[in-house]
Amino acid sequence: MKLGGKVAVVTGAASGMGKAIAALYAKEGAKVIVADLNIDGAEQVAAEITSNGGTAKAVQANVAKLEDIENMIDTAVNEFGTLDILVNNAGIMDGFEPVGEIPDEKWDLIFEVNTKGVMRAMRKAIPIFLEKGKGNIINIASTGGLNGAHAGAAYGASKHAVVGLTKNTGFMYANEGIRCNGIAPGGVNTNIGSSIKNVSEFGMKRSQVAQSVMPKMGEPEDIAQAALFLASEESNFVNGTILTVDGGWTAA
Ligand code: NAD
Repeated sequence: MKLGGKVAVVTGAASGMGKAIAALYAKEGAKVIVADLNIDGAEQVAAEITSNGGTAKAVQANVAKLEDIENMIDTAVNEFGTLDILVNNAGIMDGFEPVGEIPDEKWDLIFEVNTKGVMRAMRKAIPIFLEKGKGNIINIASTGGLNGAHAGAAYGASKHAVVGLTKNTGFMYANEGIRCNGIAPGGVNTNIGSSIKNVSEFGMKRSQVAQSVMPKMGEPEDIAQAALFLASEESNFVNGTILTVDGGWTAA
């Protein structure tokens, strides 16, 4: 098993990619904290993992709240004794407007969840990793964090910030045994698109330009396999990088 004896926290793990990552990590031997705003969904995922012979515990965590993030990491340590892997996956997409249309409230919320939540979870995990001399962080960014065509203003900027934060963290702690990498998924079949609201016809048309060259959609399990590689010893020399998993979309 690739993650035998490891303890992992996965945020946004009640649905989509987070759920697939939590399930695959557990299958590979990790004890998993299934963290999500949606506690019923998280409980269900943890129950499924347990019924398949894995070890998991659900924790309610809104990554926009500092106390929830601290509680999520503390629960990993209290329940499973340590923390080895942090996957910052929770994210929202409602912020697809071009800059001429983006309301302040959407901008602020997107950055609270998609960017500040990632920073705060890493900041809480780093001291644990420093003490162990080992740790592994995987941040789920987006192809919208790599180019200007795949996302709206707030969402795209929040994911560009995650890319920068990931590279900086990978570099800063490289000599301390801590690795930090990101994944840039392309279009993946999950529920997240349903959260996009109130984008004008102009904004939707611009976003369709990029979608018109998307070769195909991916499945959450495609992203989970990449997250497994980055969490495992097989990627020991991979650090501060962003792995694009998009079926060739950004090659267009
Ligand atoms: P999803 O909507 O299926 O799952 C997201 C999960 O995050 C949900 O369970 C939701 O309850 C949870 N969540 C939302 N806000 C939260 C908060 N404040 N605190 C804690 N949990 C919260 O979406 P997904 O597509 O699996 O998204 C996972 C990640 O992948 C996100 O960061 C998203 O931006 C990114 N992403 C998605 C796509 C795609 O096409 N689906 C592409 C690129 C990147």
